[in-house]
Amino acid sequence: MNLMFAKKIKITHILLILKVGMLAFFFLSIGYLSYNILHTDRLLTAVESRFNALYSSVRRFGSYYNNADHTVLPTGEYNHKDVGLLIKANDGTDVKCLSCGIKKLRTQLETIAPDNIWTIAVFDNQSAYGYFDPMRPEYRAAFKRYRKEDVMERIVKAEGLDETYREFYGCNIRLSEPYEESGTDKRIRSIFYPIHLQKKLDALVVVDIKDSFINTIIDQYNAQTGSVINHDPAHSQYSRKLTLPCSDKGTIEVGIAYSDIVKMTWFPSVLIALLYYGGVMLFRRNSHSLQKDKMTNFYRRDYYEPRLKKQTDFSLLIIDIDHFKSINDTHGHKKGDDIIAKCAKRILGLIRQDDAAIRWGGDEFILSFTNMSPNKLADKGEMIRAAIAAEPIAGLPVTISVGGVYAQDTQFAQAYKTADAALYVSKRKGRNAVTVAQG
Ligand code: GH3
Ligand code: MG
Repeated sequence: MNLMFAKKIKITHILLILKVGMLAFFFLSIGYLSYNILHTDRLLTAVESRFNALYSSVRRFGSYYNNADHTVLPTGEYNHKDVGLLIKANDGTDVKCLSCGIKKLRTQLETIAPDNIWTIAVFDNQSAYGYFDPMRPEYRAAFKRYRKEDVMERIVKAEGLDETYREFYGCNIRLSEPYEESGTDKRIRSIFYPIHLQKKLDALVVVDIKDSFINTIIDQYNAQTGSVINHDPAHSQYSRKLTLPCSDKGTIEVGIAYSDIVKMTWFPSVLIALLYYGGVMLFRRNSHSLQKDKMTNFYRRDYYEPRLKKQTDFSLLIIDIDHFKSINDTHGHKKGDDIIAKCAKRILGLIRQDDAAIRWGGDEFILSFTNMSPNKLADKGEMIRAAIAAEPIAGLPVTISVGGVYAQDTQFAQAYKTADAALYVSKRKGRNAVTVAQG
């Protein structure tokens, strides 16, 4: 019986945890999904502004270029401030001194895209010379192979750059699609910025950005906002596209995968459910100890007496253990406690859940019944008396005396007085007796 009760309790507790957990999960995941959806647009704006910031730095290099000093250098390879310069023309070439400017440009770009600037190159129109930051063996080999105008022609034609100086609106910059750089196999996007002099293409600035730049922005954004936006449309149930500025075809797509939402919300949901459960249990234990007497599991008198005082109809039994003092004296206080607890347990087995059992004093209890006629009240008293006397309690023969009252439209004090008098009659009769009065 007890085991079944314990099992029942455990199942209801598990159901409570499950219910709260599922509710928490439902609201947390909906909320977190909405939060991520809101941030998807903000992230795209952040991506856009990062690219625009890169473009501004590249454009500023244009004025540096126009004001840069010239020098005449013979064919060869030079290195200044880790920027490589390749001069192809056979005779002395008029070269713009750009190493410092390129280094400055890199510093600026690195603040916008840390660790994501691959290469900065400046090609003179006609390919007489080219700057590379950094110089890589692949560039050296490729540049030497180029015929006059090769690089420029290829890039300028492919990107439609020769007309850009005529554009008053829009971009005088082009951003390429991601591609693998031949030779290095690095996946990059290139920013092309043509510099014009008197309406003629004078040079081309190329800034290669690692394709991972987008992922870096997304990762940084997620770390700042606690979102889980990704760059993997195939695994996203919700996605948004953005055409990158100065790029006709270059769209990027960011999205949200439900699996990521679940990954982030299941643990807090479990935590909420367990905390809620812990709170409920704590509250129940506290309120139980406020309401119930530990030894008997009956209501405490200070908790229940105010309720009795509000009642006007009563079916009460007062129960008092006979000669309890001498049990204490003969067998010790501990034995006395044991008898009180076991008596109470036996009584609780004989009343309904709606009835209230109150520990009124040391060995005195009150049972308050609902919907009980005077006859039934007497029967109940008799049944309880007989049940206590029937078998020894804690190895000792124990009896109780019972006094009862059935009263309507009266005060508790009056009802109690009548029941107490009935109890006194039972004691006077020789104890182990029941007396019920009508009041
Ligand atoms: P009567 O038959 O007339 O009721 O005699 P009695 O000896 O039971 O007298 P009474 O009911 O007045 O005595 C109650 C005794 O119960 C007095 C007190 O020492 C003892 N008692 C009260 N509370 C506790 C308790 O929590 N544990 C124990 N062991 N004894 C208690
Ligand atoms: Mg007594």
